[in-house]
Amino acid sequence: IEELLRRSEKLTTVGQLAAGVAHEIRNPLTTLRGFLQLQQEKQVLVPLHIDLMLSELERINLIVSEFLILAKPQAVHFQQKDVRHILNDVISLLSSQAHLFGIEFESRFAELPATVHCEENQLKQVFINIVKNAIEAMPDGGSITLEQYMDEDSVVIVISDEGGGIPDYMLPKLGEPFYTNKESGTGLGLMVSQRIIQAHKGSLEIRSEYGCGTEVIIKLPAPGEPAAEQGMNRERSEDNHE
Ligand code: ADP
Ligand code: MG
Repeated sequence: IEELLRRSEKLTTVGQLAAGVAHEIRNPLTTLRGFLQLQQEKQVLVPLHIDLMLSELERINLIVSEFLILAKPQAVHFQQKDVRHILNDVISLLSSQAHLFGIEFESRFAELPATVHCEENQLKQVFINIVKNAIEAMPDGGSITLEQYMDEDSVVIVISDEGGGIPDYMLPKLGEPFYTNKESGTGLGLMVSQRIIQAHKGSLEIRSEYGCGTEVIIKLPAPGEPAAEQGMNRERSEDNHE
């Protein structure tokens, strides 16, 4: 019975997600159809309308590509990787964008290798999503700190920014699909990140005080621990500590 319940719970989540995606994609599609019909009637191309159509297309593209990250095969590419290298890759990938906004990266990594059993591209995507949010939270510059250390049997990664922070009422909603307060946001970054971290049997926690910046704490099991195979149990017991 438990298994059945779990499966139906899963299906409901998938169903809700699918309904959400369908809804989010239908909106820009409706706009696109409207503009195309207008152009068909008038037989003229209005540059402003073309711009709007392109941005609606870009929105659909963004939503679809964020979902594709989740759909990529997972178990196949799990490898032992040093998380410090992945973090450094992310810093080089995003540093020019950060500099545009006067943002500096500061990294504080442990000396010893921080190996985790992971799908590198997915983990990289998680760090990219979080660092991008940090960049977007600091339009007037500041610094983003990437910290990594070992805590018992976990590799801990903390990404913090000096942005505007997140108001209390929003915190429980984070990770819900399509929850965004940005004009061109998808509200998918954190949901996708949370799912990827779950698939890695880790945990993702967001601490923030409105006006005082945000801290995202990711814990991944260090390899060789039997807990890494137990998945949910480990995650639960870890949540209780906090
Ligand atoms: P998106 O970035 O497309 O809005 P996300 O899932 O990445 O979607 O983030 C959801 C929301 O969480 C954001 O719209 C923002 O309001 C809030 N948020 C996430 N990270 C931060 C941060 N570092 N500082 C302030 N707000 C944040
Ligand atoms: Mg985002």
